[in-house]
Amino acid sequence: MLRISDLCEALEAYQEPEQVAEVYRAYLFGAEAHEGQRRRSGEPYIHHPLEVAKILADMRLDYKSIVAAILHDVIEDTPFVKDQIAQEFGEEVAELVDGVSKLTQVQFESRAEAQAENFRKMMLAMAKDIRVILIKLADRLHNMRTMSAMPPDKRRRIARETLEIFAPIANRLGINSVRLELEDLGFANLYPLRYRVLSESMKKVRGNRKEIVGQIQTAISGRLQQHDVEASALGREKHLYSIYKKMVEKHLSFSEVFDVYAFRITVASVDDCYRVLGVVHNLYKPVPGKFKDYIAIPKANGYQSLHTILFGPYGVPIEVQIRTEDMHKVAEIGIAAHWAYKAGDSSSGAASQAREWLRNLLEMQQSAGNSLEFLESVKIDLFPDEVYVFTPKGNILTLPRGATAVDFAYAVHTDVGNACVSAKIDRRITPLRTQLLNGQTVEIITAPGARPNPLWLDFVITAKARSAIRHFLKNLRHDEAIVLGKRLLNRVLAGMSTNIEQIDQKRLLALLDEFHLDSLDSLFAEIGLGSRMATLVARHLVPATEGAGVEPSPQTLTPQPQGPLTIKGTEGLVVTFARCCKPIPGDPILGFITAGRGIVIHNESCKNVAEFRDKPEKWVDVQWEKDVTGVFPVDIRVDVANRPGVLATVAAAIAEAGANIENVSILERDGQFTAITFTISVHNRKHLANIMRRVKSVESVVKINRTRS
Ligand code: MN
Repeated sequence: MLRISDLCEALEAYQEPEQVAEVYRAYLFGAEAHEGQRRRSGEPYIHHPLEVAKILADMRLDYKSIVAAILHDVIEDTPFVKDQIAQEFGEEVAELVDGVSKLTQVQFESRAEAQAENFRKMMLAMAKDIRVILIKLADRLHNMRTMSAMPPDKRRRIARETLEIFAPIANRLGINSVRLELEDLGFANLYPLRYRVLSESMKKVRGNRKEIVGQIQTAISGRLQQHDVEASALGREKHLYSIYKKMVEKHLSFSEVFDVYAFRITVASVDDCYRVLGVVHNLYKPVPGKFKDYIAIPKANGYQSLHTILFGPYGVPIEVQIRTEDMHKVAEIGIAAHWAYKAGDSSSGAASQAREWLRNLLEMQQSAGNSLEFLESVKIDLFPDEVYVFTPKGNILTLPRGATAVDFAYAVHTDVGNACVSAKIDRRITPLRTQLLNGQTVEIITAPGARPNPLWLDFVITAKARSAIRHFLKNLRHDEAIVLGKRLLNRVLAGMSTNIEQIDQKRLLALLDEFHLDSLDSLFAEIGLGSRMATLVARHLVPATEGAGVEPSPQTLTPQPQGPLTIKGTEGLVVTFARCCKPIPGDPILGFITAGRGIVIHNESCKNVAEFRDKPEKWVDVQWEKDVTGVFPVDIRVDVANRPGVLATVAAAIAEAGANIENVSILERDGQFTAITFTISVHNRKHLANIMRRVKSVESVVKINRTRS
């Protein structure tokens, strides 16, 4: 069993004594935190984080990663919180541990194959510091090594997840040693039978091969020596999972895949790589078309080597990889080479290679910003412009960063967006404008008859949401404008003792033609939106001579609407209430037509009314309908004596009177008094009077009045 002293010994090879001491301190802290907890296999829990730390120490990761690895389950499984870890071991370590815990909370269970790539991206995006991923990979690796105590179905699930999510991430980051082990363990646990059959066959064949392998190795080494190249040539065995994959993907038999002899030749310099290539091509004939130069053009994950296939003795194919030692290190631990060789001399080939590669990786992801800056902080954000969130069914949606619950709703379906009323993020009710974060589960609550709010346009960021909202509002507005326009026109026509149904059809068509309109509805809509004056249209429709057989009079020249237009408050987007004076039913009101926006209703006493005084043609005579239902916002100012809890008392009085408080703001405050403005929603003036009476009866209230800005 691994002991802390073994870990410290491994660390001493590349870290300062005080850094190793810090790791020891973390061990004591972790052992105490996990005290009494045991793993399924029965051993003390701390054994697991210790092993995880050792995996990372073998990659020569910096001591902070090692400390975080030892503490990686502390937030998740013990009462300790992030702040306590920050206090003990600093902010950086706490961030790492917190990052690992967050990844652990994401559930990857049995998702569709097609989603795997999204999951990988989500994991990478969630980890601001790539070391979080390295710790998570080591955690998974140790869990895979110790899975035998688990029930078979759980083993299969975790194995599948490992093959679909974690091994590809390790591959993506170039951490080959971890990737290969994860793959073989995943394979063994997902398909135990196939694994056993394959490894049995491999054992059988291995004996027969030994001789040929030795023969080839001697031949290669001898030839290299002749040419004075310092190199080590090693026969290597293919991993079971890669053999299995090749068999499945290329429909080959075991012997077809396995009958390949693989060698790796490691040299000191890049020049030597090409020299060795020449030497082996001289020794055995190369298979045409199989040579690959991954030195000149590295793989996306940073891997570099020369690959070639030769015809060996007895016609057996020989796969040869040729690389420098630095390339080999990077091939083994990939991105981790950045930390492993950071402390040492920067001229180290592996370090600069890792650095170079990180830069490429970043460029590949088209990351914004300065890549040097990135290298300084060693923070990585591979997908800076996206967030990944779950639907309640576990599907992943990719949205641009800054997307809100409304964007999410429209991404699910336009109908969902149009009918959404609220959202649950991670099962908690949240405002629709909330910006989403990686890994959250978002549920949209819809209601029949609900419709988009124009205010959403202020915060949605996806084109789909924006255009769907606009489209909906435009249609809605159009429908409402038709209804209002017809009312406005008929009101004027009524003053001329006629109505739209009685208008001569020919005259009507001529008018539509003149105005370039395709239908009567379009005419109504233009009137309703205020783009055309009802009086002018009426004059066109009813010629002066017709006015019931009498001489043209000023009355018919400038038709006057008969009676005021009644307002219900439910006219929709084409009748709006001015925010400056907030009229409520019972107030004397005036309407003002704005081209393209319909009618805005003001309080007669509103200051802004004076401004429009010289445009009487824009005014519409309006009045409230008898029984207006619904609520209207209004502002009241309450002056109170400063006393603890006074705000709550006033708020309670308002609520008791049956009104909602929509907004509260403190206007002024001095030693004795505070002036507060409440925006409340009321039914009408009578309702408002009731509320004000009630508030006034509160002891600390000095003064109360309705305000109009
Ligand atoms: Mn763990």
